[in-house]
Amino acid sequence: MKEIRMVDLATQYQHIKEEIDTAIQEVIESTAFINGPAVKRFKENLQKHLNVKHVIPCANGTDALQLAMMALDLQPGDEVITATFTYVATAEVIALLKLTPILVDVEEDSFLIDPEKIEKAITPRTKAIVPVHLFGQCADMERIMDIARRHNLSVIEDTAQAINADYTFSDGRVMKAGTIGHIGCTSFFPSKNLGCYGDGGAMFTNDDALAEKLRMIANHGQSVQYYHDIIGVNSRLDTIQAAILDVKLRRLDDYTRARQKAAAYYDRAFADHPLIKTPFRVANSTHVFHQYTLTLHPKVDRDALKKYLAEHQIPAMIYYPVPLHQQKAYRSDRYKDGDFPVAERLCKSVISLPMHTELTTEQQDHIITHIFNFLKQYNP
Ligand SMILES: *Cc1c(COP(=O)(O)O)cnc(C)c1O
Repeated sequence: MKEIRMVDLATQYQHIKEEIDTAIQEVIESTAFINGPAVKRFKENLQKHLNVKHVIPCANGTDALQLAMMALDLQPGDEVITATFTYVATAEVIALLKLTPILVDVEEDSFLIDPEKIEKAITPRTKAIVPVHLFGQCADMERIMDIARRHNLSVIEDTAQAINADYTFSDGRVMKAGTIGHIGCTSFFPSKNLGCYGDGGAMFTNDDALAEKLRMIANHGQSVQYYHDIIGVNSRLDTIQAAILDVKLRRLDDYTRARQKAAAYYDRAFADHPLIKTPFRVANSTHVFHQYTLTLHPKVDRDALKKYLAEHQIPAMIYYPVPLHQQKAYRSDRYKDGDFPVAERLCKSVISLPMHTELTTEQQDHIITHIFNFLKQYNP
């Protein structure tokens, strides 16, 4: 059996090696390393795939979030609401721009930001909401967009983990994750569902004026070279990375199905186990399984399980061990321990299993068997 990895980019590459190598070689020979034709090609293909008017490539997912907040003209002291159970990037850029991160709890089943908690956290200083489509399915965008409309707020979707997920509105309309809010932000970090071989990111919007502003901010605040109308940054997607992404975008639907198939296989195996809760599926979104995350019964020693799996050459990860409100850098007088009981509980009980496009049932059987073996000690 092949070595089990959390994400197996090596095997994936072997399957697409010829196309990838040719694409990279073309860029090198053209020497169009910055804003070469592959960037435009990939951008246009992604626009088509997501059915969104504008894709603005940038250097990474964290930049995408920062540029989005800059384009929305958020001012120091403005409050931005996001979930406390997530990756740090969202709160990081809010804080860097001297905005105030307002953290709220997530829903127990879905791990996603709780719209009711959003509504309660709104004050006259609130300017934006950043729902994170954690682990691969969309937050409750219909309700979030409704809250935003009623309170005149902007919505920035963090789609770094959910590219290609479909969200269905109650009227039957289907939209891709990241194309529903005012701006969607994604990352092409190698391990993401659409990942390059280095850093990369993009912003999505259907708003022409916002798109123009995002493009300017990503390019030193200029639309005409050497005429700087607003303060910007330098944030570009490398041509080589765009060429790689264009090859992988053609397979994104297949890759998504491979992840969903692997998830269904895990689901069946764990379905009736009293100590394991398999990932919940929300009603309005497909799940693209950036992560396959189990919730363990509180009596299970999760860290011992992780160690046991590692001893059997099975990697597993804790996403995330500490909620943002308990992180040293983001501690605030606003919050105390116990304020977000769901997130605090999840941080102690979740474990993510290997999940990628190349996972075999033989590997999954091996993982499943060892989890069952470890859990036997808890049976009376
Ligand atoms: C990966 C990730 C990011 C940041 O992306 P980078 O490209 O690493 O900067 C932001 N938000 C979430 C939820 C992520 O998973």
